[in-house]
Amino acid sequence: MRFELTPYKRVLDDEEIIKDIQLVAKKHKEGYLSLSKYIRYGKYSRCAIQGHFGTWKEALIRAGLRSTRNQDELNRISNQQYFDDLQRVAKELNSATISYKDYCDRGKYAVTHIIKRFKHWDTALTMAGLSPTGKAKMKVTEKECLEDIERMWVTLGRQPTTTDVQKLALAKYSLDTYKRRFGGWRKALEAFIAYVNGVTDAEHDSASEEVNVYADNCDNNEENALKTSSSDARKTPRNINLRLRFKVLSRDNFKCQACGASPATIPSTILHVDHIIPWSQGGETVIDNLQTLCSDCNLGKGDLLL
Ligand SMILES: [Zn+2]
Repeated sequence: MRFELTPYKRVLDDEEIIKDIQLVAKKHKEGYLSLSKYIRYGKYSRCAIQGHFGTWKEALIRAGLRSTRNQDELNRISNQQYFDDLQRVAKELNSATISYKDYCDRGKYAVTHIIKRFKHWDTALTMAGLSPTGKAKMKVTEKECLEDIERMWVTLGRQPTTTDVQKLALAKYSLDTYKRRFGGWRKALEAFIAYVNGVTDAEHDSASEEVNVYADNCDNNEENALKTSSSDARKTPRNINLRLRFKVLSRDNFKCQACGASPATIPSTILHVDHIIPWSQGGETVIDNLQTLCSDCNLGKGDLLL
């Protein structure tokens, strides 16, 4: 008995695939041939096309065919065809939504054509019964970005870097969002610093843009009625705006002034900006009456003067 090695599988060359593509196009009298149509009538698989040419577009160019659909051909694509393909890709990804990028990689149609037809990517997804990506809805304001930078700065206890932004869960917005809005991360930081330094000693004039994203409330107790009269004569509002908060935090090196805890060394630390003389006892919201405390040290302080 003789043993023989299985012969090598004959290597398919580009030319054979190209000839087959041309054949299918000729049969269907089309200047443009879609990949799905080719898969249906041609000899070779999606994998073979990708392996040999990278993209379908490249294969078409090599076959001397038009690599894009003309307007007529585009108009012939029904909404349902788009929906079917979106659903197919979502199913492949096992996801309720699809990003542009994922669709570019797996979809049959051009993202630009879909957007042209439905105006927005999210509209197309919704009409196809999928979930919107939510990106279009997320119009981030400059203030939200600045607050996000402050939050990162406080969390890290230092100037945040692009790596920090890219780290999952640290930044609320993507690096791209900052780039789009400010023209770059460095520029976003500059805008933040300009904003923080923007007001000299008239911090109280920005009472209208109070930022209360953090649990900065040191003196949580509700004002009691007896003190209302004295608070009327206040020069400053009780709320500490973003600029002032940040100035206090950076003056105190992002460290609790009582125990020294810092989010940079103990990640669970939450820093509060606290009125030294409680606001309810006549303390003003000015930098000299404010200090950085961690939530633990701040708890229990209430309105007691230490
Ligand atoms: Zn502390």
